[in-house]
This record gives sequence, structure tokens and C-alpha cells, in this order.
Amino acid sequence: MIIVQKYGGTSVADLDRIRNVASRVKATRDAGNKVVVVVSARAGVTNRLIADAKSLAEHPDSRELDMLASIGEQETIALTAIALHSMGVPAVSRTGAQVGIKTDSEFTKARIVDITGGDLNKQLDEGKVVIVAGFQGVTDDGQITTLGRGGSDLSAIALAKAVNADVCQIYTDVDGVYTADPRVVKDASKLNEISYDEMLELASLGSKVMQARSVEFAKKHNVVFEVRSSMNNNPGTIVKEEVASMEDVVVRGVAADKNQTKVVLLGLNDQPGTAAKIFNALGKANVNVDMIVQNVGRDGIANMTFTVPTDDAFKAEKAIDSIKDDIAAKNFRTMTDRVAKVSVVGIGMRSHSGVAADLFTAFANAGINIQLISTSEIKISVAVEVEKADEAVRVAHAAFGLGQA
Ligand code: ADP
Ligand code: ASP
Ligand code: MG
Repeated sequence: MIIVQKYGGTSVADLDRIRNVASRVKATRDAGNKVVVVVSARAGVTNRLIADAKSLAEHPDSRELDMLASIGEQETIALTAIALHSMGVPAVSRTGAQVGIKTDSEFTKARIVDITGGDLNKQLDEGKVVIVAGFQGVTDDGQITTLGRGGSDLSAIALAKAVNADVCQIYTDVDGVYTADPRVVKDASKLNEISYDEMLELASLGSKVMQARSVEFAKKHNVVFEVRSSMNNNPGTIVKEEVASMEDVVVRGVAADKNQTKVVLLGLNDQPGTAAKIFNALGKANVNVDMIVQNVGRDGIANMTFTVPTDDAFKAEKAIDSIKDDIAAKNFRTMTDRVAKVSVVGIGMRSHSGVAADLFTAFANAGINIQLISTSEIKISVAVEVEKADEAVRVAHAAFGLGQA
């Protein structure tokens, strides 16, 4: 079998952990498999590199940020290869560029356009373990890019597709995907399986256990993968195409995203085209907008509120500022405020009603104020005060009986 194993930052945090990864990889190879290993930077390294850049400049150049952030993974591939060598296992490290992970040039969140593989298959055929640096790719003209935070998940899933792997395993520091972040909700339950759509929503809405884009890629190319722990041998969570029985569960899980900023535009010109101008400008600036609310206009003046990822808030404010004269009526002002987005997700919501009522009632009973609401077919999100985020997750989790029985 061809097996792709991805080990995240905590799984390679120090030399003992790297040895642990190497022995797991060795065991997988000894069982007769061809093994491709994708590793992340050691826990904390990427954050530290980015923080260094940000202490030199408030908004560092994104090409240079990628040049910098990509080095964390390069350290780990070499260390992992060396650890494998010490156990007598033939292994070779490869950067993203060396295995031809071709991306566009959207630095810091580049998209994979192709994986050419380099000599990956040749190395596997020669019996070597190939250890690939996650998170990084390369543009056609040789610039190093990164795939967005948590992007090693994407590297692994895309490589699994590229080498037509039989198994793709995402090893992390929890036993699988839970009904909520087990660090926040003590009685969260591990899911045996979850559909791509639910995993994608949870990931997009803040469950950092999987990078959202990686799930999107897996869904598109039908790459089944398993999330499991590098610290034990417990079965993990299988992420795959939905099957009919999955709809029986109304709420599969709860997610929170504490990195959201609420942007309030006051004093807008209440006339056709204002919203179009705003969202075109935000779109052009590559800002992802969510939870849009516009009030009923009065006296030719309207107000609008929406949320953006906090990382995009600066870009959003700049974009709005650039079209200010086109959209402002009287006393135009922009206000921003950090919020948390708490969401419940489940494909069962398609066929069950009353979920919103139950959620809002639970929040009301807990005294949690709802600032904004947005819904889709399989999720309900509310914006709440950042300080209330964890409590709101626990309240929602309990309201839908998701705790361990
Ligand atoms: P890695 O470094 O292995 O990529 P991450 O830190 O990116 O690991 O993701 C694992 C973490 O995701 C867990 O430690 C857990 O706290 C968090 N997490 C958030 N939501 C969930 C969830 N629903 N199920 C499991 N883990 C979750
Ligand atoms: N090291 C990168 C990050 O911290 C990629 C990853 O860990 O998946 O975002
Ligand atoms: Mg991760």
C-alpha cells in the first residue's frame, strides 16, 4: 500500500517526539508499505517566525513572510530523515518545491495548482521513505509560497491524491475530530466518522483540527482521510463522503472562531449600488466577508455590519476607505470590534427544523447576548463577545446533547 502520514507541530515538537514519529514511520514501512511523510514545523516555530517579522514591520511583505515561515518545515524534514537513518531506515527529505508542489503566487495563502512529484515515485520505488515539508509550495517562477496556516494538512491530502495513496492519515495531538474542541469542552465526544461537508464547515468556522482548504481539496478529489493521534494507537475519525445515516444527527459539532472582527459602517448612502460598491471593493482586496447585516434605511442613510477574519481587518478598512466618497452620506464612520463566531454544524439540519430556536433559547438562558446571526443549510453561526466564546461553545454543546453519554 501507499500510505501518506502527516505529523503536525506538537507531534514533532522536540527530539523525543521526532524519534516517536520516526519509529511509527519505520513500523509502517516494515509492514511492507511505501510511506510518504509530511511534517509541520515544530510547535511554536511558525508563530515565532511570523512574530519576529511583525516586530520589525507592522505589515511585513508577504513574499518575505513566506520565505521566512517556510523554514520551520525544512528543519523538521531533515531532523526526521536523520532520526530514520539512525534506525536504519532509508529516508530522504524533500522541500515542497522539490516534489513540485506548484502554486499560484498568492503569498501566505497560495493555492496548489499542480503537483508534479519530482522524483518522489522513484524514491518510493527504491524503498525509501520520502519526507516532504508541509505548508510550502513554489510558483512557476521559483518563488517559495505557503498554503495558509495549518497548510501541512493540505500538503498531505494533495500528495495523497498525487501519489494515489491507499491511506491518508493526519496525525495530531488529539484522538480525532470531536464534537467540540476537547480543550474547551471537557465531555466532548470523539466522532467515528464525519462527512466532508460537516468537517469543512467546522474547519472553516474555527475548529483548527483540520485546515479548511485541505478538507475542501479532499472533498473535491474524494480523498478519504483519517484524523488520529501520534501519541497512541486509538482509531481516529474517518472523514469521507456523506452516507444517508449521517443525516440522522442534527448537530454534529460546535466550532468557535475568536479571530473575527465586526466592521460597522455608519452613515451610508441608502441608494442602489452602495452594497455592491462595498463588497466589490472588499472582494478586490481579497477579504472574506461573512455575517452581513444591513438595517432598514431612514432619511437616505443606512448602516451596515459585517464580519471579517481579524487578519483581514486592516485590508478591509483600507478597501472601505478607498471608496469612502462613493458610499458615504452624512457623518460616515467605520467602527471595528473583535468578536467571536460560535457555530453549530450538522447535515441533519437540512431535514430538521427548530435548531435555531433551541440554540438561541440556550444562549438566552445562559445570558449570552447574540450580536449577529448567519445561517446556511447545515450551520448556524452567531457572533458573541470574545470573552463569552468558550462559555457559548459549552452551552451550545450541552443544548444539543453532544456530551459523552
Ligand atoms: P497539528 O499541529 O497536529 O496540526 P492543530 O493544533 O492544528 O494540530 O490541531 C489540533 C488541535 O485542534 C487540538 O489540540 C484541539 O485543541 C483543536 N481542536 C479544535 N476543535 C477540535 C475538534 N472539534 N476536535 C478535535 N480537536 C479540535
Ligand atoms: N507550520 C504551519 C503553521 O503553523 C503549517 C502547519 O502546521 O500545518 O501554520
Ligand atoms: Mg494543524
